[in-house]
Amino acid sequence: MRSNSGSKSTTRGIKRIDLAYVELASSENARDINRDIVLEIIRSQQPVARADLARFSGLQPSTISSIVEQLIQEKWVAEGAMARRPRGRPSTLLSLNDAMVILVADVRPNQSIVALVDLNGRFLAREVVPLVSEPERSVEKIVQCMQAMREAHRDRSFEGVGVSLPGRVDPDTQRLILAPNLKWGEFDIKGAIEKKMQLQVELANAANACLLAELWSGRLDGIRNAVLVTVSEGIGAAILANGQIIASRSGLAGEFGHCPIDPNGPQCGCGQNGCWEVFASSSAALRYYRESAKDGKVGTIHDLLRLSEEGDPAAVAAVTKQATHLGRGLRLITATLSPEVILITGDLTTSWARFGPIIQKELAGSMLAGVVPTLGITNDGELSRLRGAAAVVLQRHSGYHASTHLAGTGERSRRKRTVPTSGRTVAS
Ligand SMILES: [Zn+2]
Repeated sequence: MRSNSGSKSTTRGIKRIDLAYVELASSENARDINRDIVLEIIRSQQPVARADLARFSGLQPSTISSIVEQLIQEKWVAEGAMARRPRGRPSTLLSLNDAMVILVADVRPNQSIVALVDLNGRFLAREVVPLVSEPERSVEKIVQCMQAMREAHRDRSFEGVGVSLPGRVDPDTQRLILAPNLKWGEFDIKGAIEKKMQLQVELANAANACLLAELWSGRLDGIRNAVLVTVSEGIGAAILANGQIIASRSGLAGEFGHCPIDPNGPQCGCGQNGCWEVFASSSAALRYYRESAKDGKVGTIHDLLRLSEEGDPAAVAAVTKQATHLGRGLRLITATLSPEVILITGDLTTSWARFGPIIQKELAGSMLAGVVPTLGITNDGELSRLRGAAAVVLQRHSGYHASTHLAGTGERSRRKRTVPTSGRTVAS
């Protein structure tokens, strides 16, 4: 989050717990929690010696030793160089295992970006895959791309596949239950990819994935209430309330994009008329441009944003109208959730210097009461969904139980994030 310049977080890799908000533990899950803490310290302090893990965490050396052995066995952590210590014997330094990788896909209505990411969040490969209207064929193309990446990185250990989707996934059935702009029906995306790749596949709503990426990167440290809004073909939103990502029943929470603004407005992909997203999405900006410009031929939102950066009056007017609707619609969010932070991600953020202030002004003018939330953008651009898809896999596979869980999206997410004793803080 660019606006949060005071954040202590590092930009490297993925941070999973905000240790400022850990609570008291029950003994039954103390070991899980200790594992979380050890993994987090390795991530943030790597390369790090076992003795320093004990010092940072306050855990017994024997506890550290057994947790580390398990993490090495499961390939989350790798041993590296020997380091001389001021006192005692030289010790082996520990890092997250770079050899472990995750295949990810960011699925959009017309294309998917497929990528390979390592545990430190580094991209080893990235490719655009054009999609077709049939889900079977589209998923087949994604799988082919993933297979090629796997083949090209045979020396790596593949942990799983994460897929970011422009829709809501039922946590129980793992099927898309709402994706007005994708129109893949109930096609079993997870099953189809798992069958071909022989890897466990995790699906996530794009907005939730982006929010998780922000949380794990540490950019939202200290923030307990935030809403992330994705602006692309549609408008999605993810909610962090009291430190938890909210999915609610059937994973459907956060569909502000389909709140009606004007019943006489254009028809939305959801079937209703005048939803927020038909006024404030990238598709809306393109429509505004086509309606006003004489030769209104722009192919994509990127073309339109480029034109607006060049000062084309019709393009500036179209995106200004979109930004105005986006800012006004944020009242839905401030009135419902009163977040401390609102993060925007997606197409419009590439022209943030020009259009951000418009959104900020509308947001400030729409407050019912209280302090205006901090408005920011994610600084990963289109990588945000990919990082989020990787974070979902890491979160669900590493035995990790952070407070930032996607509530209700997996068995592990229902466990409570706690810490056994007080005074266990880590400098980050
Ligand atoms: Zn709608």
